[in-house]
Amino acid sequence: MIDLRSDTLTRPTAGMLAAMGSAEVGDDVYAEDPTVNGLEARVAELLGHEAGLFCPTGSMANLLAVWLLVQPGQELVCDVRAHVARAEMGAHAALHGITMRTWDSAYGVADAAAIAGMIAPDSGPYLVSTAAVALENTHNFGGGTVQPYEHLAEVSQLCRDAGLSLHLDGARLWNAHAATRVPLADYGRLFDTVNVCFSKGLGAPIGSMLVSTAANIAKARVQRKRLGGGWRQAGVLAAAAGYALDHHLPRLANDHVAAAAFAAEVAAVVPGAVEVARVQTNIVVLDAGAATAASVVTAAAAAGVKLSAVGARAVRAVTHQEVSVDEAIAAGRIVAEVLAG
Ligand SMILES: *Cc1c(COP(=O)(O)O)cnc(C)c1O
Repeated sequence: MIDLRSDTLTRPTAGMLAAMGSAEVGDDVYAEDPTVNGLEARVAELLGHEAGLFCPTGSMANLLAVWLLVQPGQELVCDVRAHVARAEMGAHAALHGITMRTWDSAYGVADAAAIAGMIAPDSGPYLVSTAAVALENTHNFGGGTVQPYEHLAEVSQLCRDAGLSLHLDGARLWNAHAATRVPLADYGRLFDTVNVCFSKGLGAPIGSMLVSTAANIAKARVQRKRLGGGWRQAGVLAAAAGYALDHHLPRLANDHVAAAAFAAEVAAVVPGAVEVARVQTNIVVLDAGAATAASVVTAAAAAGVKLSAVGARAVRAVTHQEVSVDEAIAAGRIVAEVLAG
């Protein structure tokens, strides 16, 4: 079985487990875990921000970021396929009273003009006021799309001019960086808050980092505890994340090669299912054509490849460190047959 459902499926390697086993730890609720403190400082610096907060999940880091930027009753605007809107179980509304409006896009690529046309800052007593914009890079349900840097810079300028805050859901910012070589800090400095995940392609078992100003992070630390996210000797997990930055970040580009090879095999048989040139990182979103996504997922699993349905006709394959390029090619051939019916 070749499992392409998600890059979260990766298990810690022997080297990572050794790093976890020898981590120096303390109580992080007292801010006394040296490995956590070191990782927070390291990642904040990498992203060009003052401070970091290590969180159990990317969902919690996004939840805290949006809570910092948007008051109850105000709105966040984001892409229609954004993780914050689709995959966080309505937490921003259910827990923090935040509403959202969404824009549609091709492949998740952010367009400053479209965003400018929908924001409504300081709307007075009649309409909901927009407080912040959220972008995703790479864009997960858009197909692992890398946001062109000039688009990000335009949206950042738009938000500054309009007095709005800007959040980056950078769960896979590492993949964008691996694809473009744009320095992480050049991405980070365009945003007020950034979330990055260690639990995706980087292969750590758990963990995400929220970065922002020191004042914002101090506030977020309190809300994290309120949400039940105050953890103790989390240094064992921070050690896994640190190991991933040292050893797995440099190999992420392999996953991109594997994804492109997978897509090429599919497109060779079913050209309408995927545009190979659109595959920029480790995610391939296939068009199921006349079939439903669910039926393609079932048939592919029976043939030895696990995929996931991410829309009525959208099927997602994700490469990661437990899938070689050869396995990705083999999987592509199998999925091509399934799609060809
Ligand atoms: C995975 C992911 C997250 C965070 O997910 P968790 O499972 O909560 O860690 C956030 N945004 C995007 C785009 C993701 O793919």
